[in-house]
Amino acid sequence: MADLLDQRKFYIDGAWVAPAGTRDLEVIDPSTEEPVAVISLGDQADTDAAVAAAKRAFPAWAATPPAERLAVVERILSVYERRMPDLARAMSLEMGAPQDMALEDQAEAGAWHTRNFIAAFKNFEFIRPLGDHAPTTMIAWEPVGVVGLITPWNWPMNQVTLKVIPALLAGDTCVLKPSEIAPLSSMVFAEILDEAGVPAGVFNLVNGDGPGVGSQLSVHPDVEMISFTGSSRAGIAISKAAADSLKKVCLELGGKGANLVFADADEKAVVRGARHCFYNSGQSCNAPTRMLVERSAYDRAVEVAARVADETAVASAHGPGRHIGPVVSKAQWEKIQGLIQAGIDEGARLVAGGTGLPEGVNRGYFVRPTVFADVTNAMTIAQQEVFGPVLAIIPFDSEDEAVAIANDTPYGLTNYVQSQDGARRNRLARQLQAGMVEMNGESRGAGAPFGGVKKSGRAREGGVMGLEEFMDSKAISGWDRGA
Ligand code: NAD
Repeated sequence: MADLLDQRKFYIDGAWVAPAGTRDLEVIDPSTEEPVAVISLGDQADTDAAVAAAKRAFPAWAATPPAERLAVVERILSVYERRMPDLARAMSLEMGAPQDMALEDQAEAGAWHTRNFIAAFKNFEFIRPLGDHAPTTMIAWEPVGVVGLITPWNWPMNQVTLKVIPALLAGDTCVLKPSEIAPLSSMVFAEILDEAGVPAGVFNLVNGDGPGVGSQLSVHPDVEMISFTGSSRAGIAISKAAADSLKKVCLELGGKGANLVFADADEKAVVRGARHCFYNSGQSCNAPTRMLVERSAYDRAVEVAARVADETAVASAHGPGRHIGPVVSKAQWEKIQGLIQAGIDEGARLVAGGTGLPEGVNRGYFVRPTVFADVTNAMTIAQQEVFGPVLAIIPFDSEDEAVAIANDTPYGLTNYVQSQDGARRNRLARQLQAGMVEMNGESRGAGAPFGGVKKSGRAREGGVMGLEEFMDSKAISGWDRGA
C-alpha cells in the first residue's frame, strides 16, 4: 500500500482534513487492473462536518453580489484550464478514458460547461417582472441552501462541473460526493477551487460510497437539495431517502437512446451512429445504443456498422490516439459480458465483436466493440442499459413503427433522427419521448439543457435552466418598481 498514491483526505471547510474513520478503498486502473491510489470512505462524522461547514458558509455566500460569485467562477475556469492535463491524467487512471480523449473531451467538457454557465449568468435576471398584466408582481430567484452533489464515474468532470459551478453561481454552498470508483479527478478539482479562492465551507468534498456518504447526504436534515447523476436504481433509493426531509431532488439517470435511420439519411449517418455508440467505450447515458433502420437501408447499415466495430481500436488509456479504452471496472466488464451472452441466447444475430477480451489482450477490462443485427425491442439488449460498446440494430417498416419502437423503453434521455426530410424530422422531434432529440449529427447548442423524461430522471443541467435548477423562485406581489 505504501507506494500507492495516498488520497485519504477530504476537503472540508477550506482545508484537507483526515477522515474520522478508517475505511479505505483502492482505486483500480482499468487498463492494468492494478491499484493506483487509496482513498477513504467517509462516515457519518465526515458527512456531518462537511454539511456543517457548508451551512455555516451559506449566509455570507448567498449574500455576495452576483458579480463577486462570477469573478470566483472565472478564476476557477482559468485554474481549471491550466490544470486540464492533471484532470485528464486522473480520469485516464481512474476510469480508463484514453489520454487524448480524456484531455480533449472529458476535461474539456468541464471547461465548456463552465464557460456556458458564465455566459448564461452574465445575462441572468435575479428579479424579473411576471408580465404586463401584473405590474407589481416580480419573480425573484434565490439560492436553495446547502446542496448535496452525487456524481458517477463515466464523465467525471462533465458531471461535477454541471453541478458545482451552477451551485456556486446561484449562491448555494455544497458537499460533493464523487463516485468512489473515480474520485481522483474530483480531488484535483477541489485543489482547483482552493487555488481559485473559493471561500472556506462554500465547496466541500467527502469521498464515500452510496450506502455511506451518499445516503447520509440524502437523509441529512440540513441538506436542502440533492443533485444526482447515476443509475435509475440509485435515483430511486435517493428519492426515497430524501422523502422524509422533503428536500428537492434532481435526477439525471440512465438512457437507452434510439437512433432512427431513414433510407434518405446522409451517407455518414450509420458510421456516425455506430461510432457514437462505441465512444467512451459505450459508457455514456446518452449513447445511441439502439439503431432503428428503415427496411430498405437495413442490410447495408448492418454491414457498415459491423465494419465500424471491426475498425474501432481498443487499447490502454495510457497511449495516444483516438482508440477506445477499457470499461471502468471488473463488475462492469462482467455485466457487459452477461448482456452480450443474453443477446446471443435470445437469438439476435452477432455481426461483430462478442464475448471475451479483444484479440491479443490478456489484462485490463477491455470489451470487443459488438454489433447485433435482427434485434427485437423486447430483447434484453434492447431494453437494458448495457453501458459498454454494444450496438443493437432493429429494422422498421414505417415511421409510426419507428416511433413506437423508440418510445417502447422505460428511459427517455436522448433520441436521434437521421433523415434529409425536414418535415419528417420536425414531426419526429415532437413525437419521441425524450428530454433531448439530436438530428443529422448536429449537437445541441451551448447552454441547451441536458436531461430526460421517464426513468431517465427529469433534471435539467447546463445553461440558464441549469442555473435555475439550483435556485428557488419566489413570487412577490406589491413590489414598488419605482422605488
Ligand atoms: P451509480 O448509481 O451506481 O452511482 C452513481 C453515484 O451514486 C456514485 O457516486 C455512487 O456512490 C452513488 N450512489 C450509489 N448508490 C447510492 C445510494 N443508494 N444513495 C446515494 N448515493 C448512491 O451509477 P454509476 O454506475 O456510477 O454510473 C452509471 C450510471 O449513471 C448509468 O446508469 C448512466 O446512464 C448514468 N448516467 C446518467 C447521466 C445523465 O445525465 N442522465 C450521465 C452519466 C451517467
